[in-house]
Amino acid sequence: MHLSTGDILRDAVARGTELGRQAKSYMDAGELVPDELVIGIIRERLGLDDIKQSGVLLDGFPRTIAQADALAGIMDDAGLGALVVINIAVDDEPLIRRLSGRRMCRGCEVILRADRDGVDTGDACPKCGGEVYQRSDDQEEAIAERLRTYHAKTAPLIEYYAQKGLLIEIDGSGTPAEVHALVTARLGEQ
Ligand code: AMP
Repeated sequence: MHLSTGDILRDAVARGTELGRQAKSYMDAGELVPDELVIGIIRERLGLDDIKQSGVLLDGFPRTIAQADALAGIMDDAGLGALVVINIAVDDEPLIRRLSGRRMCRGCEVILRADRDGVDTGDACPKCGGEVYQRSDDQEEAIAERLRTYHAKTAPLIEYYAQKGLLIEIDGSGTPAEVHALVTARLGEQ
């Protein structure tokens, strides 16, 4: 099961729920949503019975040391076993290029690239015909803030998990297919 805190928060914003109302201004500015909110989301989802059978891929969580500490407790409470942490590393400069060229589809949520897929905001999605849009936090100013936040608050997790012997480092500079192959090869060694 794939659980992306960003997807869950974007969905809450789009549906105008209380969670979305609380998260929106942080997300638009490229800042982190407060720890209590995202920890609450993860605690609720990991408590569901089906996760124990399927396992779960957490995408975009944890992003702070406080979230990582909370995750350990949540996993214990839910009776979930081994944790593997994958750091897909890409330098800032290609990351900025990827993010500013990223487009999404409102219909099927597929991720597109303006330079690679020849689509831009307002076009029809080549996969489902839905409307192509750009995430508000993929604008230049928000990208810069997200990178600052990443280096200050999230990068320390690399050392945190390396010291626990849980970290897999992956070179994320290649194509999606290349990065996928590297991840599955390393997971196969576990
Ligand atoms: P993402 O789709 O993972 O890039 O997340 C988009 C935005 O949602 C982030 O820039 C944050 O504002 C918020 N967000 C997602 N996951 C987290 C998290 N684990 N902690 C705090 N904020 C988060």
